Amino acid sequence: MAKADYYEVLGVSRDADAEEIGKAYKKLARQYHPDRNIGDPEAEAKFKMVVEAHEVLIDEQKRQIYDRYGHAGLENSGGGGPGFGPSATFADLVDGLFSAFMGGGGRSRGPRGPQRGSDLRMPIDITLLEAAQGIRKSVKVKRLETCLECMGKGSTSGKKQQCTRCKGRGEIIQRQGFFEFRQTCSTCNGSGETISDPCKACSGVGRVQVERSVTANVPPGADTGLRLLLGGEGDAGDPGAPRGDLELVVRVQEHEMFVREGKDLYLPDFPITFSQAALGATVEVPTLTGKVSLTIPAGTQSHTEFRIRGEGMPELRVNRHGSPIESTKKGDLVLRCTVEVPTQLTKRQEELLRELAEIEHKQVSPTRKSFLDKIKGIFHSDQS
Ligand SMILES: [Zn+2]
Ligand SMILES: [Zn+2]
Repeated sequence: MAKADYYEVLGVSRDADAEEIGKAYKKLARQYHPDRNIGDPEAEAKFKMVVEAHEVLIDEQKRQIYDRYGHAGLENSGGGGPGFGPSATFADLVDGLFSAFMGGGGRSRGPRGPQRGSDLRMPIDITLLEAAQGIRKSVKVKRLETCLECMGKGSTSGKKQQCTRCKGRGEIIQRQGFFEFRQTCSTCNGSGETISDPCKACSGVGRVQVERSVTANVPPGADTGLRLLLGGEGDAGDPGAPRGDLELVVRVQEHEMFVREGKDLYLPDFPITFSQAALGATVEVPTLTGKVSLTIPAGTQSHTEFRIRGEGMPELRVNRHGSPIESTKKGDLVLRCTVEVPTQLTKRQEELLRELAEIEHKQVSPTRKSFLDKIKGIFHSDQS
């Protein structure tokens, strides 16, 4: 498959300056960033391509090579093709440039060894209750598995031939004037071997995509964004090479009643009646797993907050390797009460409230009195 043109990848013209390239890169990298496109392999591939294009075009030397020789030129300088990016070492780069400019002398890389499987990343959705208690949960993951028909060899007979194009070296050496280029052999993809009777089940690839169930341990206190690494649960690699890893990113669903803030849980509108607020009462408060009782003092105002210790979420810390550490500490449950004004009164309730109103007319409460005095003061100052 032909590789996309780096200028087209970034959407810039061939004479774009560093600033234009940087701008285009930032925009596209944000758009396709894996954190924004969890579980989207297409976005991930685009992101990798954008990073790769930027890395080449922003580097004057690499860009010159690319402009002159295209992708093939960069494969010889340690860039481009498989193994490009962070895995291409500085030594590879120097080595490649040396052979490109000095006409050989660089060390031969030989056939490509067995490749490790790719790492995978996908979301795992849990409820707030599951986050509070922790859960063993299985998720379905689409990944590459070794083809059982050919045991990963890709050939029906199990036999492979030495690649005739590169004679088993895995790379092609081309000379252009003073330059010598080493290019990964496209016939055998650098393995140095070809298959004459490809396996029908995997079309000679040696691996097939299947859906597998994987079990993850979500620790108590897990919050959105927590990463769980499952070693060796990614794509299968070449025969003899290790599997990739699977990273699950936790997403906690919103709860219909509780609002989570770190390790505390909030109950934003807990209704109490006017008489409960005025006289005080013991009320039952729901928690994630049951209920607790709370004493509301007499004279509680609307929007007063009450904190119930230890009824929030368990604390979860992460060690320096990113692994979760459970602790016995728990957050609080904070509730904010709302005093409800009755909308439908029985005859008896209305009678009592009217009686109360009469008393209030005669006997103005101290806070209301000072409030009325203030209003009077304002009117007087306006008139003078
Ligand atoms: Zn097969
Ligand atoms: Zn070959």
